[in-house]
Amino acid sequence: MLYWTDDLRFETPAGPSALFGTNPLYAPLRTLLGALGNNDYLGPLAKLSLLPLLAPAALPEALLRRFDRLTVVDWWRRASGSQQALERALRPFCRAIQFTDAEQFSAYNLLGWAHQTLIRPLRARLGGYRGARDSEIFAPLAAWLKQRGVEIRTKVALDEIGYDAQTGEISGFKLVGGEWLKSDIYVVALPAWVFAPKIPTPLRDRPFFADILDLPTAPAISVQLWFDRVVTRRDGFTMVAGSNCPVYQDQSRYTYPYAQGSRISVIVSPADPLMAWDDAAIVAHVRADLGAANPRIAAAKVVKQVVLKHEHHLIRPLPGAMTRRPSQVTPVENLFLAGDWTQQEFFGSQEGRSAAATPARGRCSARSIADYGHSARCRGCASVRVARSPLQRVDDRQGQIERREAGREVAATGRVGRRAPVAKRAGLRHDHDRRLRRHLAQQGERVDAGADAQRLLDDRQAELVGAMVPHLRGVGTP
Ligand SMILES: Cc1cc2nc3c(=O)[nH]c(=O)nc-3n(C[C@H](O)[C@H](O)[C@H](O)COP(=O)(O)OP(=O)(O)OC[C@H]3O[C@@H](n4cnc5c(N)ncnc54)[C@H](O)[C@@H]3O)c2cc1C
Repeated sequence: MLYWTDDLRFETPAGPSALFGTNPLYAPLRTLLGALGNNDYLGPLAKLSLLPLLAPAALPEALLRRFDRLTVVDWWRRASGSQQALERALRPFCRAIQFTDAEQFSAYNLLGWAHQTLIRPLRARLGGYRGARDSEIFAPLAAWLKQRGVEIRTKVALDEIGYDAQTGEISGFKLVGGEWLKSDIYVVALPAWVFAPKIPTPLRDRPFFADILDLPTAPAISVQLWFDRVVTRRDGFTMVAGSNCPVYQDQSRYTYPYAQGSRISVIVSPADPLMAWDDAAIVAHVRADLGAANPRIAAAKVVKQVVLKHEHHLIRPLPGAMTRRPSQVTPVENLFLAGDWTQQEFFGSQEGRSAAATPARGRCSARSIADYGHSARCRGCASVRVARSPLQRVDDRQGQIERREAGREVAATGRVGRRAPVAKRAGLRHDHDRRLRRHLAQQGERVDAGADAQRLLDDRQAELVGAMVPHLRGVGTP
């Protein structure tokens, strides 16, 4: 499904270019040669100045959060000050990865990416899709779910979220058109800015939800250009420093096969000043900038062009906003959040969107299935999770405050802390482990006594989610 590239090319309009290997384990020679060479692009002192990135990035997540007070530029001035490293490495990275300039980019966010690369070198890889996601991922997944009786509805939109102030729970999802969906638990996987205006009025003053209402958003523009010839042989990403077209990729060979030439996907960022431009002006700008960096682009003819403007694309990673993002578990016991903007390690990415829905992160949704089989309800789990999750320490306090406000103080039950050896290794509570095994046994599965509970949970996640969906009656996305 994926192909790996493990390097990044950097270009500058009318300036030098460079190739850096991005993973010393998978591309040792490219990484070493890239670090030692490319001196006309990044001088030895500028390269050395990047080393301070490693020190704070090695800090544990909880300490990294302190850097959410600073922008990348503020932090960089304190840490090093190499203007060349800022302009040729950090700024293009900020613009490319989250479509935001370094002056508006929380240092915590940047260091978070460096942190994940440091602690997971085997998993920190750059790649792309072999084929379009619709045909390679979504269609097979939908077919798999449908075979198991799941109803998927598209072209329906959530209009309103019902809230019962007496029970303190979500009472239903109302679709545009008036239909109400009723369920045991409700999962909102909408973008934050779509969810925010739908937050029920009685919840809006509560800190957890007030923070969501307060999250800033940023726009994005992407441009697809089809050329009459091949303009690059690279399948990986090319970053362009000194340009607001900070990254492009030729997708004609793997993702969207196109025999006539290159099919370049370009990000325009920061997009704010260009949002009012018409498509032709944006394409002309992109061609001029990329053409200055890559003469083959300047020489080629564009045979087709598509400009996509996203007025809201992501939470703008301003200092403060990153740590204000909510956990997937909310103070409302039957309401859960998912999406790339919720609290997990890979903000604003497909990795993060998936992480928010995995058992390890979107704990309650998946674990409640494991715990309760088809009833898909996990009240104790939700409250204990908020109180105990090592990944949600900051939200813990918030969640506890809110529960106290609601007169439902979280009491760590006697169950917390009792861990079986397997469960301990996997970070699961003893009773979660036991219930997962029991659930699988009820499904007729023989579970090896020595099996790793977390692996079991991961392996079975998709299936378990499939089992849960009929009970959720979730809203399909258009
Ligand atoms: C141009 C561009 C390039 C990107 N490149 C990369 C990349 O290279 N790598 C990477 O990892 N990430 C990339 N991303 C980011 C990635 O696409 C997002 O992080 C990811 O799609 C977020 O997933 P999500 O499920 O949280 O949100 P979304 O994918 O936004 O899903 C939210 C869904 O909610 C639906 N919806 C909206 N309103 C309603 C409503 N009222 N009722 C029902 N449904 C509704 C929407 O239609 C949508 O399907 C890119 C994003 C853009 C815009």
